[in-house]
Amino acid sequence: MTPDTLLSWPTPSRSRNAPPVEARFAAGTAWIDGRIVPVAEASLPLLDWGFLRSDACQETISAWDGLLFRLDDHLDRFWRSLERLRMTSPLSRDEIRGAIHALIATAGYDNAYVQIIMTRGRPPIGSRDIRLCTQRFQAFCIPYVWIATPEVQQRGLHVHIGSRHRVPATSVDPMVKHYHWLDFELGLLEAFDHGAETVVLTDGQDHLLEGPGFNIFVRKGEKLLTPRSGMLDGMTRRTVMELCADLGISVEETDVPVAALRDADEAFLTTTAGGVLPVASVDAKAIRNGPGPFTARIHAAYWQRRADGWLGEPVDYTVPAA
Ligand code: PLP
Repeated sequence: MTPDTLLSWPTPSRSRNAPPVEARFAAGTAWIDGRIVPVAEASLPLLDWGFLRSDACQETISAWDGLLFRLDDHLDRFWRSLERLRMTSPLSRDEIRGAIHALIATAGYDNAYVQIIMTRGRPPIGSRDIRLCTQRFQAFCIPYVWIATPEVQQRGLHVHIGSRHRVPATSVDPMVKHYHWLDFELGLLEAFDHGAETVVLTDGQDHLLEGPGFNIFVRKGEKLLTPRSGMLDGMTRRTVMELCADLGISVEETDVPVAALRDADEAFLTTTAGGVLPVASVDAKAIRNGPGPFTARIHAAYWQRRADGWLGEPVDYTVPAA
């Protein structure tokens, strides 16, 4: 590894003066029926169709060093998911924003992973009329999650191309941030069977789509390629495209063949849960430059922007009254 491919993370700079945290909230917090409870005590009614039918949408937001990243963009995307699923939020946008702040404040975290979730609810017992459901909002906050830890990122991830295809966009809208993950889950098991650490699924026509919780970029020469459709428009993907515009790196949204990844100069994954994750190998064959200089530059720019407070909203560490 050369100095220009070594990854680094800015050191925390903010002091938030958060009040001492109650021990029962140290592992995380959850928002259930308007109350904040320790995350291990959070539960969902068994008959909620969010559970029985995977009829739910979510948004995952991170805070780093006391700053929530792109909160308004996440709330916009959450509302887009709700509209596409024909759901109505029982809480206003400001109430959900307040819940996010309150969950982090109560947990007392600088670096947090927050998931806000809308489930369909349930119709009266005995009815299967979806129109009679009232949606339920719930959320949780746990310490920041890394799909790949900084140590793993430094050497790059081993990726497997799944034999299973991503559920088609004509069946389940990938622009809804949903929980239709059985394809990813079984793909992950397949990846582990092959000695890899994660999986990328395709569209069935040999084009890359996405993986469990991330989008993908491939470098060919001076240009980055990333899938154009059939996957979630990840917030980190969007951030990387904006950073590349500033760094003068050209990005093409296009159909990306699996062969382009196998023969890539570099490749990386993007996710709220870890940022910019270099790829070291695909199906046990090393990527030419993994992690390489483009990835390292984009990685550094991403974390520097976050440290600078770009599109950041300071967490309000006022712990709400019980
Ligand atoms: N694709 C899928 C299926 C995801 O679930 C996620 C995030 O959870 C992503 C892509 C990456 O999106 P983001 O950068 O907003 O975390």
